Formats: sequence, structure tokens, C-alpha cells
Amino acid sequence: MPTNFKAELAGCLGQPIAENPTGAMQEAAFAALGLNWRYLILEVPPDKLREAIVGVRALGLRGINLTIPHKVAVMEHLDEIAPDAAVIGAVNTVRREGDRLIGENTDGKGFLRGVKVDAKLDPAGKRAVVLGAGGAARAIVTELALAGTSDILVVNRTAGRGEQMVADLAAKTKARIRFEPWRGTYRVPADADLLVNATSIGLFPDVDAMPPVDLNGVRPEILVSDAVFNPAETRLLAAARQRGLAVLDGLSMLVYQGVIGFQLWTGENPPEAVMKKALQEAMGVA
Ligand code: NDP
Repeated sequence: MPTNFKAELAGCLGQPIAENPTGAMQEAAFAALGLNWRYLILEVPPDKLREAIVGVRALGLRGINLTIPHKVAVMEHLDEIAPDAAVIGAVNTVRREGDRLIGENTDGKGFLRGVKVDAKLDPAGKRAVVLGAGGAARAIVTELALAGTSDILVVNRTAGRGEQMVADLAAKTKARIRFEPWRGTYRVPADADLLVNATSIGLFPDVDAMPPVDLNGVRPEILVSDAVFNPAETRLLAAARQRGLAVLDGLSMLVYQGVIGFQLWTGENPPEAVMKKALQEAMGVA
């Protein structure tokens, strides 16, 4: 039988990109399933994005991830945008269907899967408080809304940005999404079932920073989650854990966005435990 030397290619486009750990989990997944695929970490400056996507088409890459600063800019270079990615207004994953490149957003879906699978919380009919109104918050609020969360309260430092996001997502998803400006320490309401830090507060190297929230008076069943994945145990999560509250770290979101991408690209059942372990090892948190 002739040997097939041709590998299928996937990869991540961003700038800066050298410290991006997602390749480790995708490569581990390919190896675990015996797939002849490779995942490339590719440095692409903003003014080369258009040419890079032409290259993706020419080289026949089967899938790509986009990270900072390309998640919005890539959309105009694709053939189709999945409905939830269109609501979010950003694409972090591209899959190929024949010659067509289709933009997806697996960030919010990854978060949702972590909430459901790792924290065993079904957000349908629940109340969520989301801190932040940037790209991560947009993806998380959209998926929470589409999953039937009954009340989503967005709290953000810059009121204009928060109000705009809430008005836009409430109109597009028809969900109940409200906004509250973040002034001083924010007291998390007693009826919240889920608190999400979708700000970058606490992100390395600023690891001693904690979102100014007061957890006194929250219900004991609340799930406290963080989109920040470096460090995995943020000060917010440590404080919640100390109170005996359930917590969900940002690594879960990062792993599951990759798990969903892997499934979209290969059509295979992703080896989730392998991917999580590889990511943790790559990040030095194993
Ligand atoms: P953006 O820059 O788009 O948004 C940052 C948000 O944080 C804004 O709402 C901003 O508020 C708020 N913020 C930042 N500093 C402060 C502060 N000192 N006080 C109050 N609010 C603050 O970032 P992203 O949405 O892309 O990313 C947010 C976090 O999510 C990052 O840590 C990122 O690493 C993480 N992330 C994790 C993923 C995962 O898979 N786990 C995936 C994607 C992102 P304002 O509007 O007032 O400026």
C-alpha cells in the first residue's frame, strides 16, 4: 500500500502568538486519535490577515483559530458566518466545507459547556451576573441568552460600552439582558445563580488584582466563574472557594472552545481528558 505523507493542517493566527498554549491540546488530541494532522502557531500581523486567509484557502487548511487581534477583522474574508458568531460579532474558529470557509465562535459555547459539564449547572431559567463588556463577555452573554438564562445582568466600568452591548444583544437574542454601571464595589445580588468575571482583572502578570465585588449575601448555591485562565486559580476564585462556593476556572472555557473546534474540523469525538491535560501541562498548572 502506498504511504500517504500528506498531513492535514489546522492552526491559530494571531499577534502576539508565541505563548499561545492551544496548539499543545490540539496536537495531543490528533496524536491520541492517530490522526495525521498538524496544528501550526502562526504569527500574522493585522495588515497581512487578508493574505493569510488567501493562504489558508490555497494551502487547504482544514480549520483555523483566530486570536487577538483578528477575531472581528477576519469576518469579511469568510464565505459564511454561523448565526451565533454573527450575533457575537466575532469569529474564533473557522471550519472548511469544500472550498467554503465558515466562521464560528466557540468561546461562549466553551464557557457554556464548562458550566454544564464541569460545574453541573444548567443556566436555563437561571439568573446570571456577567462582569465586563468586552469580547469574552459578548460571547458568554450571547450563549447564556441562547441557552435560556432567564435574567442576565451585565456590569461594566465603562457604561457606554456596557449599555451598547446589552441593547444590541437583547435585541438580537430577545432575552432579558440588563445593564448596571460598575461604581465602587459591586454587591452581587442574593438571587444570582451564576457570577462570571469576563473582565481581564486578575490576568497575569496582575495576579493580585481582584474584581471589586462583595460576595456577602450571595446564595450558597451560586457558581462563581472566571474567564481569566492565567492563572487558573484567580483571586476571585480563591475568595469564592474560601467561602465554600462552587467555582469554575477559565481553563475549562479554553479547553472546551478547543474541544468544540476539534470536533468541527475532524468530525471525530474529541479526547477531552487528553486535551485538558496537555493544556494544563503547556501552561505549567498540571
Ligand atoms: P476586552 O479587552 O475586550 O475587555 C476587557 C473587559 O475588562 C472590559 O469590559 C473592561 O471594562 C474590563 N476591565 C479591564 N480592566 C478593568 C478594571 N481595572 N476595572 C474594571 N473593568 C476592567 O478583553 P476580552 O473580553 O477579550 O478578555 C477578557 C478576559 O477574558 C481576558 O482575561 C481574556 O484572557 C479572557 N478570555 C478567556 C477565554 C477563555 O477561553 N478562557 C477566551 C477569551 C478571553 P471597560 O469596558 O470599562 O474597559
